[in-house]
Amino acid sequence: MQLVLKILFKAFPRLLRSKAPRNDGEGGMTTPPARHCEALKEPKQSRKSIKLIYLFAIILLLLPIKLSAKEDSLLRDAEIEDVLKSYINPIFEVAGLNPKSLHLYIVNSKDVNAMAMGGGHIAINTGLLLRATSALQVISVLAHETAHLADNHIMRGIDAYEKALLQGLLGTLGGVGAILAGSPEAGLAILMSSQHLAERGLLKFSRMQEGSADQGAARFLDKLGWSSLGMVEFMDLLRKDDLLSEQFIDPYVLTHPLNSERIDFFRSHFNRSPHAKAQLPADFEDNFKRIQVKITAFTLNPAKTFARFKPTDSSLLARYGRAIAYFKNSQLNESFAEIDSLLKDYPQDPFFWDLKGQILFETGKIQDATKAYEKAVELRPDLPLLRVSYAHALIESGDKNKLEKAFSELLRAKTEEPDNPFTHRLLAVYYGKKGETGLAALYLAEMSLGVGDLATAEQQAKRALHFLKNDSANLSRAKDIMEEIKREKALESSWGL
Ligand SMILES: [Zn+2]
Repeated sequence: MQLVLKILFKAFPRLLRSKAPRNDGEGGMTTPPARHCEALKEPKQSRKSIKLIYLFAIILLLLPIKLSAKEDSLLRDAEIEDVLKSYINPIFEVAGLNPKSLHLYIVNSKDVNAMAMGGGHIAINTGLLLRATSALQVISVLAHETAHLADNHIMRGIDAYEKALLQGLLGTLGGVGAILAGSPEAGLAILMSSQHLAERGLLKFSRMQEGSADQGAARFLDKLGWSSLGMVEFMDLLRKDDLLSEQFIDPYVLTHPLNSERIDFFRSHFNRSPHAKAQLPADFEDNFKRIQVKITAFTLNPAKTFARFKPTDSSLLARYGRAIAYFKNSQLNESFAEIDSLLKDYPQDPFFWDLKGQILFETGKIQDATKAYEKAVELRPDLPLLRVSYAHALIESGDKNKLEKAFSELLRAKTEEPDNPFTHRLLAVYYGKKGETGLAALYLAEMSLGVGDLATAEQQAKRALHFLKNDSANLSRAKDIMEEIKREKALESSWGL
């Protein structure tokens, strides 16, 4: 598990802006609903949706600042992403959305919340993943968010937010740079952690849209033969939280108000559904327990994990949790003992190898880390994030003979996940080590563009143009990057950034 560096938050405005139209337009496995295509043909609509996505990006971007950099950030983890996608993909398919258009963000925040925004973007907080008590509850939330996407809902109050954001916030702070520098008083920076905006009726969908998203969620669950018990349980759980604390309200309740109509709707749906008692595929629940243990062990105090699992508990979950908690606690021998015992019992589990690779890598045992990651990649060749970790270890191993292997892993990862700035960074390192200055500059430009650092992107793209004079294919990519930088700058200035 990696917490994305703060600088990478800068990537989101650009990634989201550039992705939204492209993915909506792509045919892919399922045809997007006609209205999505309509929207694309209509430039005003398209610009509007780009703006909305941009706002979403800013919201994400502001999020870590509000609660300090200590623990709030986006989180990337091959296993957690894989598990959540295994829940969302079937829902996307029955909703008529292309699973490839999904952009999933796991926000490391204690607040219980999830949100959807155009172009296939869904963000879910670790707080929600830990508060839910079953996979089905998380699935019901994801089904509801998917319904917002499928119906192309637009958040109420977004214009007011937009105005306030641009005039007030950006006016005061002087742009994204200042936002990144951090101002806890940045007022509007609070969608997922504060009640302020939601209480004023901003940044939530209308009551009608909430109702229609609930109906959509119920319809998707029916189509899949999955129970709506999860939504009934999750709403009860949030209501209990609400009753227990006058001070604190789960932000989810504020962005998705729990009125009695919603609760009645799901209760009656549940009561008459033929799938009310249907069980999910067995591994859905097991995997959910695993990611809960993983998130707890990685993001909360290790003491929590040690308190939950007695030393005598030799279950998979106990050993997994302790392997991570010991690692976080710098008790490396204990950590290795746990992960090795898991690998002895479950040698075919890619994520145990991934964890072992991470622990080895982060404790400087790079050669051994390459072997663990190699095994993880062999077991799940479809997960680009594992390949990037493998390539990183190969490059850092200092063994020149391993450079080409790293390179081929990076190219493969890039094919499957083209926009990961970390892949570009590693490609730049690779070319740097090969003495290919022009290509190193090209990938540094690509990475900088990816993280929204336009000044560095421009500087590196200029170097690439200079050094790649005689390499027509790569020269044209460098020219494209220069063009993209120009467009980004124009867009930013039109936004008053
Ligand atoms: Zn909603």
